[in-house]
Amino acid sequence: MIVDRTGRRFRNLRVSLTAACNYACTYCVEDGKRLLRARDELSAAELAHGVELLMEVAGIEKLRITGGEPLVTPKFDDFLTAVMAMPLSDVSFTTNGQLLADKVDLLARCGLKRVNVSLDTLHPERFRQIARGGDLDSVLHGIERCLAAGIRVKLNMVPLKTGNADQILPMLDYALERGIELRFIELMRMGHLAHSAAFDRDFLGMEDLLDIIGARYRYNRTDAAWDSTAVRFDVRGGDDAVLGQFGVIANESEPFCSTCTRLRLSADGYLHGCLSSSNRHAVSDLLRGPREDAVAGLEAALWRAMGDKQDVAFTGGATVMKLIGG
Ligand code: SF4
Repeated sequence: MIVDRTGRRFRNLRVSLTAACNYACTYCVEDGKRLLRARDELSAAELAHGVELLMEVAGIEKLRITGGEPLVTPKFDDFLTAVMAMPLSDVSFTTNGQLLADKVDLLARCGLKRVNVSLDTLHPERFRQIARGGDLDSVLHGIERCLAAGIRVKLNMVPLKTGNADQILPMLDYALERGIELRFIELMRMGHLAHSAAFDRDFLGMEDLLDIIGARYRYNRTDAAWDSTAVRFDVRGGDDAVLGQFGVIANESEPFCSTCTRLRLSADGYLHGCLSSSNRHAVSDLLRGPREDAVAGLEAALWRAMGDKQDVAFTGGATVMKLIGG
């Protein structure tokens, strides 16, 4: 088992099914240009084989399917069907929701229990300004269809000081009304934001966020899984009853590297041990080769990837989020 000197080991695998996306969110990419050629991406079968091998070699227990946008690729159906048949303790996926409504029947048929939908505003015009693609109504429709099918929804919102700060309370109202847990993700200094004034202009940290929420709701900190990235809060009603939860993924304000168990596999077959490191470790040949070579080769690559992790905090990363998903 790959365990580093602080006791961290890989438990959560995030697989980027494709680097393609039908959006170009302002905090993720500079523009909508394609970052990878389709022919350089692994097939659904190769990526699924990678998951199996990483379960064996790294002890992976949980899987998150990401992108780019995982629903824009025809690989999604086969990949989901394959991984849902594996002995994983949890499978989820992150989507921008644009194509979600048409996939709900497949998700339910495969037994998927939960989905994370990235949504930064309930204002149609603001939506277009931030996402630079798609439309709000399609996303809201996808969310409602998931809820109707009994699939648990979490919302991911990136609060931006100049982009959507006035949407924080409407988004929380929307989520609480539907029993959805809203996760606020602090802006990350990644890709084009790594050394940009835009980051300082738009960064809205947990303290400011809680001040805004405190103007309407009472809340108190509550439990979260030991390796969770989120600080979680109960929202209290007038009679002190719990109305719901929200979370803050506070990579700047309250770093969580010391309990990081995440490993990422990109669509073009690289292992990434840490978002804050631009190191990556090629494994596509291993995934396409004989099993015994793959097991030995993956073990070596995993030790290198584990070595890339930060001890304390995310320090910024050149890697574009769209390439490896959150
Ligand atoms: S910066 Fe690296 S070590 Fe820290 S939480 Fe993110 S991926 Fe893990």
